[in-house]
Amino acid sequence: MAIAKVHSAGLEGISAYPLEVEVNSAGGVQQTKVVGLPDAALREARDRVRSAVRASGYSYPDGTITVNLAPAQRRKEEGSAFDLPIALTVLAASRPPTLDPRKLERVAALGELSLSGRARPVRGVLAAAQALAATDIRRLLVPRTNAAAASLGSRGQFEVCPVDSLTDAVAVIQGVRPEEPFELDPALLPGTSEDGLDLADVRGAEHAKHALVIAAAGGHDLLFVGPPGSGKTMLARRLAGLLPPLTVEEALEVTRIHAGTLAGSQALIRERPFRAPHHTASFAALVGGGTRPMPGEVSLAHKGVLFLDELPEFQTYALDSLREPLESRTITVARSQSTQTFPCDLQLVCAMNPCPCGYFGDARRECRCSSLAAERYAGRISGPLKDRIDLQVTLRAVPFSALAANDAPRDPAWASEHWRPRIAEARAAQLARGGVLNARLADEAAVEACELNAAQRGMLARAADRHLLSGRGVTKVLRVARTVADLEARERVSREDLELAVFLRTGG
Ligand SMILES: [Zn+2]
Repeated sequence: MAIAKVHSAGLEGISAYPLEVEVNSAGGVQQTKVVGLPDAALREARDRVRSAVRASGYSYPDGTITVNLAPAQRRKEEGSAFDLPIALTVLAASRPPTLDPRKLERVAALGELSLSGRARPVRGVLAAAQALAATDIRRLLVPRTNAAAASLGSRGQFEVCPVDSLTDAVAVIQGVRPEEPFELDPALLPGTSEDGLDLADVRGAEHAKHALVIAAAGGHDLLFVGPPGSGKTMLARRLAGLLPPLTVEEALEVTRIHAGTLAGSQALIRERPFRAPHHTASFAALVGGGTRPMPGEVSLAHKGVLFLDELPEFQTYALDSLREPLESRTITVARSQSTQTFPCDLQLVCAMNPCPCGYFGDARRECRCSSLAAERYAGRISGPLKDRIDLQVTLRAVPFSALAANDAPRDPAWASEHWRPRIAEARAAQLARGGVLNARLADEAAVEACELNAAQRGMLARAADRHLLSGRGVTKVLRVARTVADLEARERVSREDLELAVFLRTGG
């Protein structure tokens, strides 16, 4: 009897865990048994491995081969990722061994094999490498396309060896092929958004652009109210580009979430996500679900922007379901097979028409809605969601020519590039002061951070009376005023900061 083993990793949601592939070869009936994989995946893996071994010019051992994926009871979502480690251990457990079993010590492998023995990329390699970084492995063999993801996940704890085929992997392990540890291209690291969406390209709507900058600086959620064609979507799309670049840790986390929903290879997601689910999106699509729990839109927007256009058109229960995850910044999806928790720390931008027909307050067309219908429309937005939104901006219809025009001069004062460093500084000041962005300040902390003088308090009280602001509304004004001051690097909130915050709270 001969035994060989190699390290690998199993996927579970957006995470992974280390496991060992152990092969035991004994005499007797010619058969291959795999313990620890679901039946269908098992049959396919067994067939691919046998074919790949033979097509690569090795002999497949006689007798009974038992493959054990330990821990056996743990779920394995990706059967194909074990082809390469199974093939390597089978070769090391054959007699005489094609591969010295001792050379598999502290080695891990992941990858699918084609019937001809080519190494094919698998999903979840980033998470797998992160899990293996906590073990004592020295080297991870992966299909070449997966090398970047593996290298990012390794955090320098082990070498990543890209391989093209089973024979290639054997050569690396036997030391025949020189090791070519993968060098990560620095261009793969996170950077500033390169989507070309610049705030300067939005013509007019000065106060809306200002609100967007403030939202970026303080982490405030934002609601745009305006008729069709007033630029709500255009503005929302430019928020992610105003935020500071992702850190490497954030980019790794975002990539893990997205890789779970994409097939095939993965590279690092370098930019903050922008997600705009349609109002017909199901509950599961929004918050996550499926027989195998998968992240929903709220998690796909993690560290980026979730844009809910035509907010009142969303199902009430769908909006209500957002309440808890938006508050706790994580969402737990429970299914009979497994339970997964996904992060969802995002910035929310909502948009709605001023009334069902969309033309209330529009000079171009007459609104035909009854006041009751308009009220009911606005009332469809759930209270808890509205409570989150610090900034509310009313937009006027902008003539199409002015919005899209190439002839209208770009206003360099609004260039995203110009605002980005100021926004980053404002955020740093907030974190240094209170440990959180202003949008997350508790009520008392918001009052403290603003240090209003008697005159300012009086002014705020009058504004609250005039605009029927609740206590909660006043706190929102304070949070926003603090951000306005932070953008100007002012220690104290000024009267103008307060006035602007009131304006942006009461619908601009
Ligand atoms: Zn109307």
